[in-house]
Amino acid sequence: MDVPTLNHSPALKFSTTRNPTPVSAERRAEILAEPGFGRYFTDHMVSITWTADTGWHDAELVPYGPIAMDPASAVLHYAQEIFEGMKAYRHADGSVWAFRPEANGRRLARSAARLALPELPVEDFLASIELLVRTDHEWVPSGAETSLYLRPFMYASEVFLGVRPSNEVRYLVIASPVGPYFSGGIKPVSIWLSTQYSRAAVGGTGAAKCGGNYAAGLAAQLEAAAHGCEQVCFLDAGAQRWVEELGGMNLYFVHRNGKLVTPELSGTILEGITRSSILELAKELGLEVEERKVGIEEWRDGIVSGEISEVFACGTAAVITPVGRLVWDGGSAGSASTGPGEVTMRIRQALVDLQYGRTPDTHGWMRRLT
Ligand SMILES: *Cc1c(COP(=O)(O)O)cnc(C)c1O
Repeated sequence: MDVPTLNHSPALKFSTTRNPTPVSAERRAEILAEPGFGRYFTDHMVSITWTADTGWHDAELVPYGPIAMDPASAVLHYAQEIFEGMKAYRHADGSVWAFRPEANGRRLARSAARLALPELPVEDFLASIELLVRTDHEWVPSGAETSLYLRPFMYASEVFLGVRPSNEVRYLVIASPVGPYFSGGIKPVSIWLSTQYSRAAVGGTGAAKCGGNYAAGLAAQLEAAAHGCEQVCFLDAGAQRWVEELGGMNLYFVHRNGKLVTPELSGTILEGITRSSILELAKELGLEVEERKVGIEEWRDGIVSGEISEVFACGTAAVITPVGRLVWDGGSAGSASTGPGEVTMRIRQALVDLQYGRTPDTHGWMRRLT
């Protein structure tokens, strides 16, 4: 197969080294029939190197495989690392599309600025995504709610133990076919309210998509599991009063009067692209939406009184996940056995219909990759 041509003009020129031993068509078909999440990877990956002297260079598509790392590589010690998460969706006519990829590119640049990493121009980001998906297009599954998950990431690769921003950085993109998040139908999750741990503090890295935020949330995740919960909700690190988000998903509350409320961006919440898209889609569905502070007692009392009729979490990986139960140290509210709410499912449907090309893209959110 020839190197695919790109439909825009990135500054970087990519070289291509095809994988001499790609996964066989038979094995790939087996994988795509039951991909799970993040377990299998395609035949290629993209790599771009940055150095303080020359900027971005050595843009290449290479066979997927291990990366050699010096034990003194800065990222292994000081966690100077950021990432993105997005999906390529196969439409009914066989074409493959990304959902608002420029938004991911812009967010990667914002995360980079916060972690003192170099900003990769959005055009080069888009080119990297497109090149990988075009090359490995046969890895994009076509089953219901399946997709090719794309994981661009950037890390400090300089071999140096001194504490300062790395003078050498690598940007990689890998891709993994993923199945429907809910294989046995959409089930509400239980949420553990963390009061012992915080995810992000004012002035910290909460608004950046960095591995360190996830590492900081894992102890709370263990606590959640010990209390029979799948996810953790973090409150603001100061007063432990305001609802922020889950470890990797934003939150929405549906009020009895139909109004949708989501915690306002405070500098400690990650600005999800799913969250932003729902703000716009909900208005089109005739729902009133509000971004504001949400107190934890408003949530607790709201489920008990019925003022809050539905709660859901949102993010690229799981799209929209209904929240059934809130559990805290000393009590719980709601039930995990009630089905997903009507408003939750209506918004979810609108979003996936758009992503899979079943409704017209009136926002110009979809970008064709192949
Ligand atoms: C990635 C992420 C989200 C969801 O963002 P999307 O762009 O919607 O996928 C929410 N919270 C955190 C902490 C995240 O890292």
